[in-house]
Amino acid sequence: MSIQVVFLGTSGSVPTLKRSLPCVVVHAPRIQWMFDCGENVQHQMMAAGVSFHRRMKIFISHLHGDHVLGLPGLLQTMALMGRRETLQIYGPIGLRDFLVCVRETLNFGLTYTVEINEIRSEGIVCTQEGYQLCAVRSNHSVEGYCFALVEQPRPGRFYPDRALSYGIPASALWSKLQHGQEITTARGVIVKPSDVMGPLRPGRKIIYTGDTKPFANFVEFAKDADLIIHDTTFDDALKDKAETDGHSTPSQAATQAKDAQAKCLVLSHISARYSDAGLLLEQAKKVFPNSILAEDYLILELPLKE
Ligand SMILES: [Zn+2]
Ligand SMILES: [Zn+2]
Repeated sequence: MSIQVVFLGTSGSVPTLKRSLPCVVVHAPRIQWMFDCGENVQHQMMAAGVSFHRRMKIFISHLHGDHVLGLPGLLQTMALMGRRETLQIYGPIGLRDFLVCVRETLNFGLTYTVEINEIRSEGIVCTQEGYQLCAVRSNHSVEGYCFALVEQPRPGRFYPDRALSYGIPASALWSKLQHGQEITTARGVIVKPSDVMGPLRPGRKIIYTGDTKPFANFVEFAKDADLIIHDTTFDDALKDKAETDGHSTPSQAATQAKDAQAKCLVLSHISARYSDAGLLLEQAKKVFPNSILAEDYLILELPLKE
């Protein structure tokens, strides 16, 4: 099953006519994850056909308005639509106060439970449906986190001919082996799953940086990622401004992706000053050829890995 990555907002700080504020949704068969929730997210969800009712976890990278101001309206609309499914929201300390304050001020009710989880340390944030969500502190002007969505490895390929060679007929015994159990054959031979199956197949890994300058332990965090969605607010000529404001340039993001041996880099959080951001893509590609420029409504498919 493919994982789909849908870009709903790819601008930084202020929206433009072509780019909405930061939001990326990742779909897997039984769950979806949202990374940041910029203003205008509802319209973007409708336009891209993203469900308001599905099981969903929302991860807020940091509490700057461009990343979080879509939440109040989204929560309210979900209630007006009669959502029942619990919604879990994760983000830095202060997220709870923000949401409680908005709800008390606007005095709106909810038809579903909202669980607010403030992230207090790096590491595993939550685990669900065979996926792990990990966080590492970003290097921005306020406390924030970069996120890694990591799929557990899948069992190796099953080889029926090997099972038959041990005298194990096609039966429930095959399923036991495929699910990691040893079995004893009629002849008293113990057969382990590794005797009839190939090595574990790696899961997929997606990194979402939020706003950040480069930092040393990012490379380890993003190691072997299939996709890195990275802050590239300013082009290389504005490196000093990026440093002051806590952002990255295309060359910096591309160097991170190259050092992490990632498969693909997506440039996002593009400053409104670029009506054509082709320059940013050019700069990234010089360092890391497999770079893509994010656009609103861009959809990337990550197929299962062998
Ligand atoms: Zn931002
Ligand atoms: Zn920011």
